[in-house]
Amino acid sequence: MDDELDTTTDTLETGTSYFGVRDPTHVEADLDRFVDSGLTSVLHTFSEADLEYYRETMSEIVAASHERGLTVYMNPWGVGRVFGGEAFSEFIGRNPEDCQVMSTGERLPAACFNAPGFRSYMRDWTEAGASVGADVLFWDEPHWYIPEWHDEQDCYPDEAWSCRCEHCQERFFEQYGEPMDAAHTDRVEQFREQSLLSFLVEMMQVGSAAGCSNAVCLLPSEDSKHGLRNWDELAKRPELDVLATDPYWTLHGDGSVGEFVSYFSEMVASLARTHDCDSQIWIQGFRLPAGGETTDAVRTATQAAVDSDVDSVFMWGYDACRTISSIASEEPDAVWNTYLETLP
Ligand SMILES: [Zn+2]
Repeated sequence: MDDELDTTTDTLETGTSYFGVRDPTHVEADLDRFVDSGLTSVLHTFSEADLEYYRETMSEIVAASHERGLTVYMNPWGVGRVFGGEAFSEFIGRNPEDCQVMSTGERLPAACFNAPGFRSYMRDWTEAGASVGADVLFWDEPHWYIPEWHDEQDCYPDEAWSCRCEHCQERFFEQYGEPMDAAHTDRVEQFREQSLLSFLVEMMQVGSAAGCSNAVCLLPSEDSKHGLRNWDELAKRPELDVLATDPYWTLHGDGSVGEFVSYFSEMVASLARTHDCDSQIWIQGFRLPAGGETTDAVRTATQAAVDSDVDSVFMWGYDACRTISSIASEEPDAVWNTYLETLP
């Protein structure tokens, strides 16, 4: 555990994600605003485009963050299209043999966690993240392809699943001594979870060896369709430093915002206490409608996270995503300011 993560006091880490600006002069002005608002950390997105074209620039941006005393998180934004993020993947276009395959046989536009080529690419990404100066590598919403997220739910039968590529079939045979079924069996489900966990453990080990801490942010659904059924399996890994989740209520909740955020906040806080790591909650700052109900919800969610005794609270993302028009909140200033005002 790095000292930056402040495990020895009750100080709450507070932060935001940051993206879309690659001119350090402009970034510095935003970082100054964050520091003036009392934030202690920032997450810089590190996409495939950043890896390819902006590596030195990212070093400058990270250095500017450190100069202001901010802890720097970095995430593989949309890399391979198996993490969260509004970023495209060149990897999946160049390496179709490393992409997932549906149980019905179609190749998917998402990398496979078991493909050696993708693991190799991600090891390079991890080392690059460390080399530009990240303190914490943030493994954001790792998931197998979810057809509903791509408006393709009608293209596949309900029982279709991924991945049944040649790499997965080989690994499955090695593990169980039998061919991989095309049906969605319990063993297939177990294999998907084990494969995801094995991928994360490998990358976290690379990150740790390069001097970074590791945070994993699971989607707020305790099912293998969105990640892992048993979060304890991840929380107990020695490579994990921060267990995070993002209870975005308009996407995943179906009732009270406060109860929804409290449930997942208390869950990660409890697992973190048990396994001696830190806990983190992300507050929704995008795709929020205008009006008082939204600011009430942001206030309630932020307060619920703070009250649950998690170690860290972040918003996705800065200025309530005003600059990403496809997901911007309708009244971004109101959302962002409510978040900042509610933090202790
Ligand atoms: Zn596969």
